[in-house]
Amino acid sequence: MVGAGLAGLTAADGLAAHGIDVTVLEARDRVGGRTHGIEASPGTRVDAGAAYLGDKHTELHALITELGLKTVPTTMLGASRFALDPTADDAPAAPASKGTTAATRDGRFPPLDAVALGDLFERLAELTAAVRPEAPWLTPDAERLDTLTAADWAEQHLTHPDARLFFPLFLGEMCAADPADVSVLHLAFYLRSGGGLRYLNAFAGGAQQDRIDGGAHQLCERLAERLGDRVRLGEAVRAVHQDDHAVTVHTGRGAYRADVAVLALPPLLADAIAHEPAPPVPRAGERTAGGCAVKVHLVYPAPLWRDHGLSGWSVNARGPLLSTVDDSPGSGIGVLTGFVTGAEAHRFGALTPEQQRAEALAQAARLFPMLPEPTGFHVTDWLNDPYSQGCYAALLGPGDWVRLGPTLTAPHRRVHWAGTETSTAFFGLMEGAIRSGRRVVAEILDRA
Ligand SMILES: Cc1cc2nc3c(=O)[nH]c(=O)nc-3n(C[C@H](O)[C@H](O)[C@H](O)COP(=O)(O)OP(=O)(O)OC[C@H]3O[C@@H](n4cnc5c(N)ncnc54)[C@H](O)[C@@H]3O)c2cc1C
Repeated sequence: MVGAGLAGLTAADGLAAHGIDVTVLEARDRVGGRTHGIEASPGTRVDAGAAYLGDKHTELHALITELGLKTVPTTMLGASRFALDPTADDAPAAPASKGTTAATRDGRFPPLDAVALGDLFERLAELTAAVRPEAPWLTPDAERLDTLTAADWAEQHLTHPDARLFFPLFLGEMCAADPADVSVLHLAFYLRSGGGLRYLNAFAGGAQQDRIDGGAHQLCERLAERLGDRVRLGEAVRAVHQDDHAVTVHTGRGAYRADVAVLALPPLLADAIAHEPAPPVPRAGERTAGGCAVKVHLVYPAPLWRDHGLSGWSVNARGPLLSTVDDSPGSGIGVLTGFVTGAEAHRFGALTPEQQRAEALAQAARLFPMLPEPTGFHVTDWLNDPYSQGCYAALLGPGDWVRLGPTLTAPHRRVHWAGTETSTAFFGLMEGAIRSGRRVVAEILDRA
């Protein structure tokens, strides 16, 4: 097994339960991949990677229960803050009563033209309904939809300035992407795969309803505990060679010979490995990219915004933080998580830590002028992490689904593929990763 993320460890655990001899090779010095807990204050970890889940994530819920973990609701009570004027200058923070560029509004609906946004969501819902979720490349008109970028689509279909303003913010939030980076087919597929536009976007009753108490990283840590010394850290796989009798996986430390190998990796990282023989179709195309997200945590002595009737939720047309959300643990400290996405994530990721801190804190002060300076500040840059190269998941660019989709899960001789990007259900999410792990176990049992 290559990769000790949720997909690789679910698969390894499933294979071990069937008495199959399995070794997991993980490049990093930790398990978990895109789930990762960082210490926000002594003894309190927060999700620097995946965090949220909903009722439709049935395999994830089953795993949470099996591993003795529990969920907590994501807090979303109170008013939101919206800073939707992209041209607003960088005015110093002022008390809310004296006016800032941010508006306070009940609920999560932005203070934009409701008809224009209604029309945008209807158009997206139409695209989403038309997609074939289990085989997007077979969607009627797939070739055309796969050629068109979401930016082209917006140019053609969105006339109202508020719809044009909101669309990239929505995409940044949903898939950490800029509209030019994804095909319309990918966008429609992603929304459908995740349970539909409304479900994916919602907190209560939707995909952000809950979090895992104590952090999502515990899933992989507990699975790895069960697997014991079958998990080997610091083993970056560089090459996979197959012959008629076996597959040999080469890391910087040695070679592992096996009957079968599973690559439980995002597509770009699977392609970075030297395959001999090469798969007939690569895992990624020239326009495939990793989503672009940097996660920022602002830590306060308590969730102080709640005292001001605010939920901690904000949406911003000017960066670095596209949105903020209340990710405070059950008691004690308050944590606001900020998401930096798309091109802004590239810019922000290239700043020095001091510049990152200055920019994020200045924005937080404009959004929440009633709050003191945070006591803690953490940046997790997934874009420049060599073993993720982006998140939340791969972005399939123009042409990718039609070309790469049909061989998404087809084994290459003794090599099988897993990872959230190989799951057409809940693609890009923890649920998709687990489902891919379960699928690959069934494939390998079938080989025997
Ligand atoms: C900031 C962020 C927010 C997210 N939010 C959510 C959310 O709220 N809800 C949700 O459901 N999902 C969310 N996701 C997505 C979710 O984390 C992923 O879908 C899921 O964790 C992917 O699991 P995986 O096992 O497929 O891949 P990964 O977790 O990427 O695992 C791949 C593993 O392979 C290892 N690896 C890479 N290259 C090599 C190599 N050459 N040799 C050996 N090992 C290698 C990596 O180190 C990694 O451990 C988020 C992700 C991020 C980063």
